[in-house]
Amino acid sequence: MNQEDLFKNIIAHAKEYGFVFQSSEIYDGMSAVYDYGQMGVELKNNIKRYWWEAMVHLHENIVGLDAAIFMHPKVWEASGHVGAFNDPLIDNKDSKKRYRADVLLEDYLSKQQEKIEKEVEKGRKRFGDTFHEAQFLKTNPNVLRVKEKIDLVTQKMSDALNQNDWEGLRQLILDCEIVCPVSGSRNWTEVRQFNLMFSTKMGSVSDEADQIYLRPETAQGIFVNFLNVQKSGRMKIPFGIAQIGKAFRNEIVARQFIFRMREFEQMEMQFFVRPGTEMEWYNHWKEARLRWHLSLGLGADRYRFHDHDKLAHYANAACDIEFAFPFGFKELEGIHSRTDFDLTQHQKYSGRKQQFFDPETNESYVPYVIETSIGLDRTFLAMLSAAYIEEALEGGESRVLLKLPAVLAPIKAAVLPLVKKDGLPQKAREVLDLLKFDMQTQYDEKDSIGKRYRRQDAIGTPYCITIDHQTLEDNMVTLRERDSMTQERIPIADIHGRIMSKISIGKYLKSM
Ligand code: ATP
Repeated sequence: MNQEDLFKNIIAHAKEYGFVFQSSEIYDGMSAVYDYGQMGVELKNNIKRYWWEAMVHLHENIVGLDAAIFMHPKVWEASGHVGAFNDPLIDNKDSKKRYRADVLLEDYLSKQQEKIEKEVEKGRKRFGDTFHEAQFLKTNPNVLRVKEKIDLVTQKMSDALNQNDWEGLRQLILDCEIVCPVSGSRNWTEVRQFNLMFSTKMGSVSDEADQIYLRPETAQGIFVNFLNVQKSGRMKIPFGIAQIGKAFRNEIVARQFIFRMREFEQMEMQFFVRPGTEMEWYNHWKEARLRWHLSLGLGADRYRFHDHDKLAHYANAACDIEFAFPFGFKELEGIHSRTDFDLTQHQKYSGRKQQFFDPETNESYVPYVIETSIGLDRTFLAMLSAAYIEEALEGGESRVLLKLPAVLAPIKAAVLPLVKKDGLPQKAREVLDLLKFDMQTQYDEKDSIGKRYRRQDAIGTPYCITIDHQTLEDNMVTLRERDSMTQERIPIADIHGRIMSKISIGKYLKSM
């Protein structure tokens, strides 16, 4: 199956099993806005908890915060979002469709990359066992020609974006002969800047002063509370403040399901350090965050770092942790060395000092900041797409399963009486009562046991416990494991301990 079909199947599966629904679907939906269903909300909560425990509970010098979404409008002037949080947009005059100019170019570059991959495929077929891919990539004239084009366009695009050269960006789109996917024409407008912040009014009088924004990132809530937390928590530098919360961006390119949403959630940590030590801490957090991802056990080959060539105005180093989504490697988390930009700006705009007196050096300074910022919804999508497997079984059967890390699975154990009579449901509920205080469980007595196993596989439940007639006599149950489908008879008294040892957050976090 190609990746596009696989992604479609994942999206359909997410809906069918109550993970993700289109927002306001009965009114034909809203693009790039999604609701999380009964399974989705559990998975999402488990991801949040896994992040929170790793960042806040495991670090003596990191504390949490829950700041409001509404903030004083000056915050967004100080942060630069009013002036510079823009996307370059271009419209096709025939289809009237609007695109992000840089995304049109990125799509063009991906297509060129696909051409190279096709050449490699052809080469492999032609040369068979003697095919040497690295050699082929270095010498094949078709590959070299495409590569040269990719490098040139990438360079020109990066220059145009860095210099805010919108005419140059438009010219590049024309030079690459990019057509509108809807109308097929090259009838493009100028490139214009579009601010991504949603605004609304606060209060009843509608004048300028009442205009406020829905926060486009959670970070600023942390910065404006830097001194509150530092003082009330008697924090000493270096220390961090972590927050999970909603952010809003009026994204123009709404696609790839929950990868790019207009309302989404971020899990951010701002780490305040002594000026001059920021590179050390930047490298520290780069490695620490990658270890967090790897601890979930999806495999190292699914992650890679991407260092930024174009740095945001506030950063002196930045990279992304990218994940192999079905549509390619894309940003999952950003790690940025934000210098003292934000606190200095707030000092300037608020007129209040944002400094720390360092007892070790006997001086006051505006701390530097390392930010780790991960999208909760993107992590959700990463988990879902890595876990989704269509598996052929013996005897021509097949099953769809979600091989989710047990610690994140929405339901940890399903308790299934073999039949709906003879006292088996009562016995099953006794077993359920032993587990439900410590883990998410589900009770299911409908349909054949095989069907029930399939339903649990499809939502990623790591364990099924089956109660049969024999259980009433010997207090033993069948424990079935999701991935291997192995079944084992074990005493009821052992079940709780056995499952807890596999789903324990601590066990996963210790592997970091
Ligand atoms: P992109 O380049 O993909 O637009 P970004 O670099 O603007 O992302 P940041 O501002 O660094 O993203 O935000 C931190 C994290 O928040 C990202 O790594 C991503 O996981 C998540 N994120 C950002 N925008 C969105 C969105 N529109 N929908 C879902 N998650 C998002």
